[in-house]
Amino acid sequence: MASKYLRNLNLFHRLVTRTFQNQQRASLSTGPNFELNEDQKNIQDIARKFASNEMIPVAAHYDRTGEYPADIVKKAWEVGLMNLFIPAEFGGPELDCVTGCMVLEELSYGCAGIQTALMVTDVAQMPLVIGASTEQKRKYLGRLVEEPMVAAYCATEPSAGSDINGIQTKAVRKGDEYILNGQKMWITNGGVANWYFVIARTNPDPKAPAGQAFSGFIVERDYPGVNPGRKEINMGQRASDTRGVSFEDVRVPKENLILGEGAGFRLAMKTFDKSRPGVAAGACGVAQRCLDEAVKYSLERKTFGVPIAQHQSVSNMLADMAIGVETSRLAYMLAAWQVDQGRRNSYMASIAKCYAADICNKIVSDGVQIFGGSGFNSEYPMEKLMRDAKIFQIYEGTSQIQRIVISRCLIEMAKNGEIGRL
Ligand SMILES: Cc1cc2nc3c(=O)[nH]c(=O)nc-3n(C[C@H](O)[C@H](O)[C@H](O)COP(=O)(O)OP(=O)(O)OC[C@H]3O[C@@H](n4cnc5c(N)ncnc54)[C@H](O)[C@@H]3O)c2cc1C
Repeated sequence: MASKYLRNLNLFHRLVTRTFQNQQRASLSTGPNFELNEDQKNIQDIARKFASNEMIPVAAHYDRTGEYPADIVKKAWEVGLMNLFIPAEFGGPELDCVTGCMVLEELSYGCAGIQTALMVTDVAQMPLVIGASTEQKRKYLGRLVEEPMVAAYCATEPSAGSDINGIQTKAVRKGDEYILNGQKMWITNGGVANWYFVIARTNPDPKAPAGQAFSGFIVERDYPGVNPGRKEINMGQRASDTRGVSFEDVRVPKENLILGEGAGFRLAMKTFDKSRPGVAAGACGVAQRCLDEAVKYSLERKTFGVPIAQHQSVSNMLADMAIGVETSRLAYMLAAWQVDQGRRNSYMASIAKCYAADICNKIVSDGVQIFGGSGFNSEYPMEKLMRDAKIFQIYEGTSQIQRIVISRCLIEMAKNGEIGRL
């Protein structure tokens, strides 16, 4: 199995290296370039086929049962559609952010719940990619490349979601270990992860600024005292495994601290900059699927002797949906492109995440409307899309929090005389 994965990775490596070279040539000669190169088209095609052949046929089953889609995760791993951003040095495909986001859009088109189950491992890896030592990367990123395992990202707690300062999980240094105690909440892959990235308070001073108070740790599932709770029954994206995870006197080796004490907040914020374009891409995938289903249905369904697409109120809804899909795609592409250019992208990442999530929710609501009574029924695709869409406005920072980030960036740019310049 591993050799098949490596063969696929080799294909990815070749495609990705050429992608980088082509992008650099294109941007040097022509500036902004909206044409996907051949390699990006090939990678997109692999993801698109995976979504249509492996995900769409089983999406309703996993939604209905809430089962964890272990077989799809394994297949995605074999094809090379997981661990997208792990550097080549540690065995990963090291996709650039633009191409990785395109993959996430395609997978979300297939099923947003399964996409989240796959994508969260990429989010959990991000703090390691950003700040882990070579040894940590080799051990924990290497593990995910060698076998079809998943990881989880543990920041949220029962009393701390938007407000990271409220985190109460504590890690106290004792000799060569940290003793970890606390309760995390709403953790995707909580019950199936091989290891967790955990943010905990290491500075006991409650007045310590966030930038010094928290640290990031790698915590293995098998460490005594790690206890995932029951699977939560969510409104949508039900294939994804969401749980509370408690840590009771867990002994974490000091070697599992990432980047030093006090670096947790910085790691979390840098992770958001890289993960939010991907969440926006996920929302865009759901919106595109909704648009495609709505166009098809409105050409088939007749009222008053004509397909409903010929009623102007319906065709205007379709046009508005298309405007939302196309602009959210442009927004996530720009945010991802900034990552690839090594530019600070918090502003654009929040715009992309906020816009794509909000407009996706408007689009799925209109999609249900276009389907009429059938839109409200689980035999048709729309009600699942509507339930799956909601979480995009909540996880990875709510739409309200994105607006706070955007307005803070605006004020900072205004003070620096940089308004309107990306
Ligand atoms: C299915 C699912 C999967 C998740 N996966 C993960 C995961 O893998 N890892 C993880 O760490 N977390 C995860 N989360 C948690 C998620 O990131 C949080 O739920 C989210 O950040 C919001 O936090 P909260 O639920 O505590 O809401 P709160 O922070 O309590 O917010 C409640 C409401 O108040 C608003 N609000 C809060 N503060 C402000 C403010 N200053 N100004 C304006 N409005 C404000 C919010 O926008 C929201 O509308 C997941 C959640 C769900 C439901």
